[in-house]
Amino acid sequence: MFMTQKAEKIAKILQENNPYPKTELDHKNDYELSVAVMLSAQTTDKKVNQVTPKLFKKYEDWENLANANPTEVGEIIRQVNFYKGKAERLVKAAQMVVSGFDSKLPRSMDELTKIPGIARKSANVIMQEAWGIAEGIVVDTHVSRVSQRLGLTREKDPKKIEKDLMEVLPKNYWRNFSGNAVLHGRYTCIARKPKCDECTLNKVCPSVFKV
Ligand code: SF4
Repeated sequence: MFMTQKAEKIAKILQENNPYPKTELDHKNDYELSVAVMLSAQTTDKKVNQVTPKLFKKYEDWENLANANPTEVGEIIRQVNFYKGKAERLVKAAQMVVSGFDSKLPRSMDELTKIPGIARKSANVIMQEAWGIAEGIVVDTHVSRVSQRLGLTREKDPKKIEKDLMEVLPKNYWRNFSGNAVLHGRYTCIARKPKCDECTLNKVCPSVFKV
C-alpha cells in the first residue's frame, strides 16, 4: 500500500470512530480557547481546566487581560507549570491582540504566530478548534509518537513531522486527524504501554504489539 493510501486509511478509521474530535480544554469562545492553549504547554489539560474558571471570571476578554498585572495573573494560574513566564506572555499577547488586531484574534497562521506565546502548534489548535480552519496539522507529543509508531514519519522534530503528515494526508483530513491523533495518543497509543489489543488501528500499524 502506498504511503498516501495508508495515511488516508488511518485517518478514515480514526474519523469513523470519532467524527468530531474536540479539544479537552474548557472554553466558551476563541479568547478563552487561545488563553487555555497558551497555558497548556508542558501542562495537562486537566490542570489548565482547574485554573481557567477563576482566570476567565476576573479577565473576561482581551481588553481586561491586556490591563492585568502579570503577578496577579500568575497567582491565579500558579498550579500550571512555568506560570510566571506564562502570565507575562498572556498579558503581552493580550496587549498585542488589542493594539495590533483591534481586539480580535487574526485568522491566519502568519499573524497568529506573531502573538507572544502562540507558536505554530498552538495556532493550528486555535484555528482548527475555533474556526474550522486547517492550515496545518497539530503535532504535539502524542501526535509525534502515534505518527512514528504508525510509520507515517521517521522524523523527531515536530515541524518535520508536520511536513511529512501534510504530504501524505489529503487536506480534508488535516483537522480531524489532528484532534483524533491527540486523543489516540492520550488514551490508546500511550507512551509506556500502548493498548494495541483494543486499538482500532492494530491491523494497519507496523508497531502493533512491538512497543
Ligand atoms: S496498534 Fe499499538 S502501537 Fe499501533 S497505533 Fe495502536 S496502540 Fe499504537
